[in-house]
Amino acid sequence: MDRVAVIGAGIGGLSAAALLARQGLAVTVLERAAAPGGKLREEHVGGRRLDAGPTVFTMRWVFDELFEALGTALDSHVTLARADVLARHAWSAAERLDLFAGPARTAEAIAAFAGPAEARGFREFCARARSTYRTLEGPFIRGMRPTPLSLAASAGLSGLGGLWRIAPFTTLWKALGEHFTDPRLRQLFGRYATYVGASPFLAPATLMLIAHVEQEGVWLVKGGMHRIAAALAALAEAEGATFRYGAEVAEVTVRGGRAAGVRLLNGEAVPANAVVANADAAALSAGLFGAGAARAVPRPGGRSLSAVTWAMVAEAGGFPLARHTVFFSADYAAEFQDLLGRARLPAAPTVYVCAQDRGDDAAPPAGPERLLVLVNAPPTGDANPFPPSEIAPCETAAFGLMERCGLTLRRSGCTVTTPAGWASRFPGTGGALYGAPPHGWAASFSRPGARTALPGLYLAGGSTHPGAGVPMAAMSGRLAAASLLSDRAAGGKAR
Ligand SMILES: Cc1cc2nc3c(=O)[nH]c(=O)nc-3n(C[C@H](O)[C@H](O)[C@H](O)COP(=O)(O)OP(=O)(O)OC[C@H]3O[C@@H](n4cnc5c(N)ncnc54)[C@H](O)[C@@H]3O)c2cc1C
Repeated sequence: MDRVAVIGAGIGGLSAAALLARQGLAVTVLERAAAPGGKLREEHVGGRRLDAGPTVFTMRWVFDELFEALGTALDSHVTLARADVLARHAWSAAERLDLFAGPARTAEAIAAFAGPAEARGFREFCARARSTYRTLEGPFIRGMRPTPLSLAASAGLSGLGGLWRIAPFTTLWKALGEHFTDPRLRQLFGRYATYVGASPFLAPATLMLIAHVEQEGVWLVKGGMHRIAAALAALAEAEGATFRYGAEVAEVTVRGGRAAGVRLLNGEAVPANAVVANADAAALSAGLFGAGAARAVPRPGGRSLSAVTWAMVAEAGGFPLARHTVFFSADYAAEFQDLLGRARLPAAPTVYVCAQDRGDDAAPPAGPERLLVLVNAPPTGDANPFPPSEIAPCETAAFGLMERCGLTLRRSGCTVTTPAGWASRFPGTGGALYGAPPHGWAASFSRPGARTALPGLYLAGGSTHPGAGVPMAAMSGRLAAASLLSDRAAGGKAR
């Protein structure tokens, strides 16, 4: 009665699997890749392992609570250090701005960079981002998928003012214009939209909550982000879950109107009483898991951004890279017009670099270091797999921008991942890395929740509620486990 098949060992699948196994259910995780983690993955370059997916770890409380629910403590499994410099930002060799963990220090840095009026704007912006976060943490981030009405109802009369103030009908770009006149600062804080694969020109102002999330703590994970996935997989195994790698699921089987297990690509049937799908919701609705699952999951409203990444080992000089550094393009509107309007690689991309051997002191390690370089890209890895002739000019532009800012890189090893590479790792996505984009006020309400229209089939992952990012995907795993357990307790009557 208690067999659960989990499709995918991404962070959402791992969280659901560990929690369900802890409740005594017989959990089998079926993962097509060779290791757990999904997007939270390592690449081996030049004989060294480096994070080739997410690199910014925030909202540690999600993992503190998750590990506590698993009867242990996050700190017993991974070593975290709080970053003092949240990120370094550069526009040219002469224009550089750091954001710090403490808003007061950041305000000072902004005053020195762009004047006291912009520092005042920053303080107002922080207050607004904090209030947006506080309004949404309970009813949206922690809650089962709300509707606009249920969100308003749970906020209550006193909370309605708060909901109105978070300005869901205003774009992030427009809202930033109310706080900053310096275009560089608008660009810097607008970049938070890309954390969930969106454009700041289309995403709602609500996304400013990401600025608050960063101020609450950006954490450096000793040994790399992948440690988090490895720790969760080990905990799930310790609770009795079985992991099968290289096991690609081809279908969610349906019997008597319920999910009845899965069939693998090699034809093997894995019967179960419930299935948690951690694959992208778009893959289910597109029919990659059979007709029953396709009917049960709504088609997503578009695709979020993809990326081109260069995971490399290189000698870096001439620019003091911090752990997280962003080199900004001169024209953000043109960059997003390329990405979304023309669906092509940006002629002049903004570039993110994670220097994985550096901490707060920005001290360069002796010899070659591990770097992940990332630019945003259109999610068209299936329709237009961007041949090397299209990647090359994007690479020249990206590395040219870093060079103009002073950074010289001498690579000794490099692996490039394009939207086509992401699409083949995460089928049904075209390389979109964050599910559907939160473009427009209603988009966040149209992500699928944990329950689907097929009883016994549940969803977990960054393409479902509450959204993309490592902590949000973990939260979705908790919601999927809670939904399954509550339906089971209700005797299977509920979905
Ligand atoms: C380059 C990059 C940078 C990012 N940066 C950040 C960041 O700094 N901070 C942050 O918080 N987030 C970041 N993200 C987003 C974050 O990584 C994701 O939102 C999160 O990891 C997604 O987890 P998930 O639960 O959706 O599972 P996914 O990671 O999507 O994993 C899904 C799993 O399902 C498996 N699967 C799919 N189909 C099948 C099948 N048919 N059979 C068996 N298994 C299957 C896949 O192999 C995969 O392992 C980044 C993502 C990328 C790619």
